[in-house]
Amino acid sequence: MSPQRQSSPARPVTARTTSGPARRTRTPAVDPACAEAVDLAREAAEETAGAAGIGEHLGMRAEADRVVTHYFECLDLAYRGWRWAVTVTRAARARVVTVSECVLLPGDDAMLAPQWVPWLERLRPGDLGPGDLLPTAPDDVRLAPGFTQVDDSTDRAAQWELGIGRVRVLSREGRDEAATRWYEGVAGPRAPIAASAPAQCSTCGFFVPLAGELRQIFGACANEYAPDDGRVVSADHGCGAHSEAVSIPAASEHNPPVIDELGYEVVPTGDDTVPLDDEALGHS
Ligand code: SF4
Repeated sequence: MSPQRQSSPARPVTARTTSGPARRTRTPAVDPACAEAVDLAREAAEETAGAAGIGEHLGMRAEADRVVTHYFECLDLAYRGWRWAVTVTRAARARVVTVSECVLLPGDDAMLAPQWVPWLERLRPGDLGPGDLLPTAPDDVRLAPGFTQVDDSTDRAAQWELGIGRVRVLSREGRDEAATRWYEGVAGPRAPIAASAPAQCSTCGFFVPLAGELRQIFGACANEYAPDDGRVVSADHGCGAHSEAVSIPAASEHNPPVIDELGYEVVPTGDDTVPLDDEALGHS
């Protein structure tokens, strides 16, 4: 049997109507016949629990007139802290009590699954894979009807002439959001690689400014040896592959070898009869 969630238990609530003052619902009384039907409830729970079995009777609660729920301890190790809830009832003026339903409910210290989060709230940058579709909501504030949001007259003319007007384009909010994200990211001025760069992207020959208002701050890096090749970088970003970086000859780590041109070392040649004097050694 699959564990089922039950709606919040009945409890006294304050009901308010549109036409009259607030009124209180009454707390149902415990029906004696239903309260005594513990064995009936236990049989139903045992039948549902199967081999795992059930434990002690934990108590009961009146749900409504002639409707009582009995609780039993759940012995299944996979459901620690859960309890079997068997609801019994009887018809008005009838003596026979019958089982209405039997479910497994979490107790106060039951282990529960984490709260379910809608996929749209779980989605993170980079989650989209090949073949995935991510429709954009019609009221997405990052987008606005095309053409109306084109501030730049040059772009507007270009789009009009080429006939590439799009249904929606970046709204001001979408553009500001992207600019903030890019500027504060790894291709912005605060990236470690930018701190040690010889100069900024704005002076680099590989910096290709974006179109529209974003061109004031952002461009694409077109240097295949730069870590940001093909990515949007801010004008005050930078890296060591800057087009105008100059290489300074590195100083040698080693001193030139020291050669003793005055001293000499006698090396035996195997012919000990030949005396080695200054003349033989080339010294006068
Ligand atoms: S090569 Fe370096 S300095 Fe030049 S645009 Fe690319 S990231 Fe900027």
